[in-house]
Amino acid sequence: MEEGIIENLIQELTKLPGIGRKTAQRLAFFILAMTEEDAKGISRAINEVKEKARFCSECFNITETEICGICSNSSRDRSKLCVVEEPSNILVIERTGSFKGLYHTLLGALSPIDGITPERLKIRELMKRVEKDEIKEVILATNPNTKGEMTAQYIRELLKPFDVKVTRIAYGLPMGGDIEFADEVTLSKALEGRREM
Ligand SMILES: [Zn+2]
Repeated sequence: MEEGIIENLIQELTKLPGIGRKTAQRLAFFILAMTEEDAKGISRAINEVKEKARFCSECFNITETEICGICSNSSRDRSKLCVVEEPSNILVIERTGSFKGLYHTLLGALSPIDGITPERLKIRELMKRVEKDEIKEVILATNPNTKGEMTAQYIRELLKPFDVKVTRIAYGLPMGGDIEFADEVTLSKALEGRREM
């Protein structure tokens, strides 16, 4: 067997989060044993997201089109806007099925130490939406950790001059958590139990 190509695949796989050398090795040999069709399916899917995925020009969700499926869905409640840190958070909240409004992705959270200032996030775009759209409630669903809290507080201050209700999602999670890891029931309850800030 050609050692170079399998070693190369192992090296590439270790670039994924949570994949150490051992797991990468196991995955590489698993891929090797797969049918050609299955293995090509994986590589095709990777190529496709890199070629076609882009940010929704309204909410910064991941989409293949100019406006994402949620923003363009006329049955969504346009008076509620749920603010999240990452597009992957939308996926998690959507899976709960308990939110029917729209989203806004900040593409990160404030972290002055790492140089993540408000200008680096999609905060200006959020303010524009609040100004021009018919939003009645902004739900801040940033993560329940230091950065997420700081970001929520910052946006809360910015929204004060506006006639809009601002709520913070109530997490049934310990502080320092990440909404990514919340189960659907906990997240559903967190949304229901949101409190005005
Ligand atoms: Zn969108």
